[in-house]
Amino acid sequence: MVKICCIGAGYVGGPTMAVIALKCPNVQVTVVDIAEQRINAWNSDTLPIYEPGLDDVVKKCRGKNLFFSTQVEKNIADSDIIFVSVNTPTKTQGLGAGKAADLTYWESAARMIADVSKSDKIVVEKSTVPVKTAEAIERILTHNKKGINFTILSNPEFLAEGTAIQDLYNPDRVLIGGRETPDGQKAINALRDVYANWVPKERILCTNLWSAELSKLAANVSHSIGTDSRIGPKFLNASVGFGGSCFQKDILNLVYICECNGLPEVANYWKQVVKVNDYQKSRFVNRVVSSMFNTVSSKKIAILGFAFKKDTGDTREAPAIDVCKGLLGDKARLSIYDPQVTEDQILKDLSMKKFDKDHPSHLQPASPTSIKQVSIVSDAYQAVKDSHGICILTEWDEFKKLDYQKVFDSMQKPAFIFDGRNIVDAHQLRKIGFIVYCIGKPLDP
Ligand code: NAD
Repeated sequence: MVKICCIGAGYVGGPTMAVIALKCPNVQVTVVDIAEQRINAWNSDTLPIYEPGLDDVVKKCRGKNLFFSTQVEKNIADSDIIFVSVNTPTKTQGLGAGKAADLTYWESAARMIADVSKSDKIVVEKSTVPVKTAEAIERILTHNKKGINFTILSNPEFLAEGTAIQDLYNPDRVLIGGRETPDGQKAINALRDVYANWVPKERILCTNLWSAELSKLAANVSHSIGTDSRIGPKFLNASVGFGGSCFQKDILNLVYICECNGLPEVANYWKQVVKVNDYQKSRFVNRVVSSMFNTVSSKKIAILGFAFKKDTGDTREAPAIDVCKGLLGDKARLSIYDPQVTEDQILKDLSMKKFDKDHPSHLQPASPTSIKQVSIVSDAYQAVKDSHGICILTEWDEFKKLDYQKVFDSMQKPAFIFDGRNIVDAHQLRKIGFIVYCIGKPLDP
């Protein structure tokens, strides 16, 4: 039985390994993490991340051929194939701060593999890493070799949060990069055999290490990028801005690579993408304030959606954070509802603390000058009640299906809707009496 260990039980490691376990009953998969709380959650009825379909997959395999553990060293030592799926955030200080990837977690995972391995291993780069990281990791592994053969592969992940399980079931392509040596080819074949349990052969693309690393970051490997259905109308919608842990981080990484390779103009091009995205968020706040007679002070604004996109509880880099902070800066009162994001997470993102432990929905910003400005509610109708305006910041399906007549009746008048995701039928809502602002569409007549 092939034994797989995945280091990092996050948004990528968890779902990816659950699907491998489901599709490959003859493979034993153990996902390890240093975060005990996260592993406990993976072993409980409330998984640490929300993804449609994930609960079912985990329930089917957990305890059979899928395990979650904090015993990182033991499971590394016991495995044949090790996926490294740790976080690679943007560096916050030192050389390349604000742009380059922080490989601290990666490096420590690699050093641990080198230290505890007692047999040959295939090490698979699953995290998104800068080009040539595989080479650097190889140096760490071979330096500590002790007669053990480590073969490194790059297998970047293209799943999108919110559709992770479907993306993993039906990937546009699986990319496996390896060395053109006999060992490299053998390792590529071993990983290809795992994916071939459910992915059609023509979708498993094998290439060299560099190309696989680069294709996650840039459109340089035209074949593999061209097969990506995410690059198309689905992701090219006008909106309040993109979010998520990956896009901005990967773009900044490209800026850094361009700068390091003497391509300042190309670096500037990519920088502008991040700038425009930030501009889009502040432009949205300006639109709300200016439309509501140039002030939102003390006005109640309902925030529908806080996650960076629908079908996930992930708020990393969510535009809602900046929009809420902008509106709070103008002294608005916010009533926030998201079907998957917890109150604690919203508080943390807005740098706030609970105001009164007996009334946990009443919060105040950490700043002593601020008043009780935010409440977090568990239902969209509760959020909009008595509000002056609604901001739709996540494209959850349930916001398309609200009874907007009921919503209108419960609001202050004039009733505004600012649709940051272009999901409502503006024409219908105007007929009801709303003043509607959509992004990239004509203004209310
Ligand atoms: P995450 O933060 O959700 O999970 C990473 C996990 O790794 C954390 O739980 C952390 O505790 C653990 N970890 C860190 N160092 C460790 C160590 N030494 N030993 C054991 N565990 C360790 O991150 P994520 O969203 O799953 O992303 C992982 C990688 O995949 C990143 O490089 C990201 O860019 C990339 N990626 C993410 C997505 C996405 O949609 N989230 C999609 C494609 C690729």
